[in-house]
Amino acid sequence: RKPPSRKGSMADVPRDLLDEIKRLEDMFTIPTDKLKAITNHFVGELTKGLTKEGGSIPMNVTWCMGYPTGYETGTFLALDMGGTNLRVCEIRLPEAKGEFDIIQSKYRMPEELKTGNADELWGYIADCLQQFIEYHHEGEELEKLPLGFTFSYPATQDAIDHGVLQRWTKGFDIDGVEGQDVVPPFEAALKERGVPIKLTALINDTTGTLIASAYTDTDMKIGCIFGTGCNAAYMENVGSIPKLEGMDLDPELPMAINCEWGAFDNEHVILPRTPYDIIIDKESPRPGQQAFEKMIAGLYLGELFRLVLVDLHENQNVKIFEGQDIKKLRKPYSLDSSFLSAIEEDPFENLSNTQDLIQKELDIKCSRAELELVRRLSELIGTRAARLSACGVAAICKKKGYETAHVGADGSVFNKYPHFKQRGAQALREILDWPEPKSRKEKDPIEIMAAEDGSGVGAALIAALTLKRVQEGNL
Ligand code: BGC
Ligand code: MG
Repeated sequence: RKPPSRKGSMADVPRDLLDEIKRLEDMFTIPTDKLKAITNHFVGELTKGLTKEGGSIPMNVTWCMGYPTGYETGTFLALDMGGTNLRVCEIRLPEAKGEFDIIQSKYRMPEELKTGNADELWGYIADCLQQFIEYHHEGEELEKLPLGFTFSYPATQDAIDHGVLQRWTKGFDIDGVEGQDVVPPFEAALKERGVPIKLTALINDTTGTLIASAYTDTDMKIGCIFGTGCNAAYMENVGSIPKLEGMDLDPELPMAINCEWGAFDNEHVILPRTPYDIIIDKESPRPGQQAFEKMIAGLYLGELFRLVLVDLHENQNVKIFEGQDIKKLRKPYSLDSSFLSAIEEDPFENLSNTQDLIQKELDIKCSRAELELVRRLSELIGTRAARLSACGVAAICKKKGYETAHVGADGSVFNKYPHFKQRGAQALREILDWPEPKSRKEKDPIEIMAAEDGSGVGAALIAALTLKRVQEGNL
């Protein structure tokens, strides 16, 4: 994709708006030195999280031990409970190396459910699984099917088929789940309905992404999600995980670590938070949590944008949307990151799609100058998210000493937000002092690229690896 054209840029923007844009640029732009400082601090937090005392990042042990060979086989179910959708998949891993077939159904995750109660949540999920099985296996006598459950929230695991929810993230706030093992109530809901499923592995979407990507590309060393939430997983040797000391495990054994890096800088010592980030945090269901995630993840990008515009409208020094009723803009979380994506996609010459979108969604008419402000603001928010993301990736690579690697990334922001990849790659070059590539074909030593489907195929693979370990008596 071509970089956005800047023809005719800013010519007609009045002085007060220009000043305001400059102020926003200063606030949202993270220079190279700061990226480097954040990365170095991040390396320290990754290390601390692996100790018994712990640090701000949970660095959860996943009991997913080792990469797939590519020759895993069998048929598995996968359940993906992300921030936005619920997805049920059936995955067949054939003999052929690195191959898979998948059938899947998507279900809406009703908004009320996210703040409802635990019984409703597990009941709804079990209903979806039951529907899926009845539809795809009508009238069949079924043995219990093994399931990989992708539960994309921080969980403490002492075995791969259990997990205690540390805390809800991504705006979820369901009573009676935090601090509990999520597996028993989930299995009880299945049993109540007579659904023939056995939970084999409870996994995080990042671990799934790492494993699914490594199944088809052995250079994959990190799995990342940049979607409604953000996070990463990578492999560590048991011997480098002090919190596993005393467990009588082979120190050479690889163990996937779910970093839960969304919690980076919860103690607020290094990230350059703006007043708008502070509002997002305060008004969220879990203030003080997920400091890094709240500056990066898709759930928050539209909200940041909204908060800035409301502030400018009310600000005395500058006039935007003067004399207009901004009541639609006042509604929290009414704009999602696809709104910003659409603005960034719009050719800069006329910004007519931006004009139409804002008119349609917010009942606001923009002047050319206001359109330019809105466009610049989207770029600033999107660019900051991509650059901060690169700090996390760089930190894992530094910690592990990776000089070359493929990084598998998934999620709506990575896949759909314009320029996110290029901006992230640019930041990685700045942090790691790489030269600019001389041609479009030249690859950076560490490359963030589209991952395989972690929450589906990855969950199935981890279930397969787990069953194999059980058969070999290694579990
Ligand atoms: C969760 C992680 C998850 C990430 C991406 C975060 O909010 O805490 O477990 O991997 O979102 O889905
Ligand atoms: Mg997902």
